[in-house]
Amino acid sequence: MKKLSLFIFLNLIFSCSKSSNDSFLNTEIVYICNGLYSKSYHLDKGCEGLRSCSTEISETTLESAEKKGRTLCGYEH
Ligand SMILES: [Zn+2]
Repeated sequence: MKKLSLFIFLNLIFSCSKSSNDSFLNTEIVYICNGLYSKSYHLDKGCEGLRSCSTEISETTLESAEKKGRTLCGYEH
């Protein structure tokens, strides 16, 4: 458990420096929660919005996430 929170913490640090880059390619990896009511995708695996995900989190490309009707999560606008 301790290891997992360290992992999330490190992820947050790295994603912060990444988020200044505004050019999103369609092949960029995004994260989606497989929950029934999830309608967004996340650029950051440690995103606040993903923490409430009660099911599995999958990696996918931005393009395929948008094809599924997912939109960028509210925390990352
Ligand atoms: Zn998010």
